[in-house]
Amino acid sequence: MLIDVHGHMGRVTPDRREFIDFANIIAKMDAWGVDKTCVLSLSEHPEGGYLESDTEDVITLCSRRPDRLIPFCLIDPRCGNRPDMDFGYLLEEYRARGCKGIGEFLPKMDTDNPLALNLYRQAGKFELPVLFDMNDSTWSYGLRDDYGLPKLEHALRSCPETVFIGHGPTFWAEISAEVPAAKRSSYPPGPIAPGGAVPRLMRQYPNLWADTSAGSGYNALTRDPAFGLEFLDEFQDKMLFGVDSCLRNDVNRVAPIVAFLRQLREERKLSADALDKIAWRNAVRLLRIST
Ligand SMILES: [Zn+2]
Repeated sequence: MLIDVHGHMGRVTPDRREFIDFANIIAKMDAWGVDKTCVLSLSEHPEGGYLESDTEDVITLCSRRPDRLIPFCLIDPRCGNRPDMDFGYLLEEYRARGCKGIGEFLPKMDTDNPLALNLYRQAGKFELPVLFDMNDSTWSYGLRDDYGLPKLEHALRSCPETVFIGHGPTFWAEISAEVPAAKRSSYPPGPIAPGGAVPRLMRQYPNLWADTSAGSGYNALTRDPAFGLEFLDEFQDKMLFGVDSCLRNDVNRVAPIVAFLRQLREERKLSADALDKIAWRNAVRLLRIST
């Protein structure tokens, strides 16, 4: 069993229609051995500017194959523009319609902006984990934080009932205690210095999880192979398999993270139990997915 907690639909650019084609999404899942995919909304944030990927689009798509596709909903925390805005009516409706989490949460704001904290808190009450993207200020989208991720720590401490799923270049750059400024929003190469913010926060806060998705997740887990294996082993109860594939729909070009997981299993680099948890059991437990 393989559950991808980080998929998308819609047009990432106006001319690209492959992700609104239901058959393409399912064909790629079949080719890569993915049993279920969580489809994340994008269009609610003005930063994204994507077409045909808002929560309504996602729910409609997923309703065509509820056995394979799981919807996430998205709310922009600036909606209402008040730090006490009540999002209960939206969260209640989205949850009733099958949404299992909030994402992809990527407004260009500080991770502990009061408007964001307000949404995180309410998401926790509705038991909807928040899957976020973090990028430094040079990017047009994604949460901002300082070196060492103090704003994320503030959010984790302020919203203990809310599960956060970390993702994105700046989040993953902070797996290392040494974060080169020029690479804080891309893929820092080479050995990882112990003492990074991500392992520290994941150790300290039960409500911080992470997914393996995108070039950033793959890079963090493979740039220092021994460290990556130890990281996956230590956090085997909080890591979620994800792809975040926005590649052109070449079903024959398997995503590197899919190949990496296969390789770990074939070469027995991690226990079968740990790999099962990362591949699907953690997702079932956290998101209450029926199998
Ligand atoms: Zn994504």
